[in-house]
Formats: sequence, C-alpha cells, structure tokens
Amino acid sequence: MMMSSVEFFRSLPPKQCTKCGNVLNEMHESYVQQCEECSEELVTARK
Ligand SMILES: [Zn+2]
Repeated sequence: MMMSSVEFFRSLPPKQCTKCGNVLNEMHESYVQQCEECSEELVTARK
C-alpha cells in the first residue's frame, strides 16, 4: 500500500534532541539531532 509523503511524515514521532530529549523545532536543519543548548555545548567542548 502506498503512503503519501504527507502521511509518512505525519506518522513520524517528533524529532528530539539525542542528548536531553527536548523536542526539536521542525525548522532546524535536517541534520541537527540536538537542541540549540546541547549543540552549543558540543561546539564549546570541541574548542
Ligand atoms: Zn538538548
């Protein structure tokens, strides 16, 4: 059975930060897997 792309994306769970579990804003880039706070922590830690 074919699913329309709209139905497919609706069936996905909300994207969550892989670190703290915050639900990510859908406007984030698709590759972002962490919320802004955790992303900033990562950037800081890499310095
Ligand atoms: Zn987070």
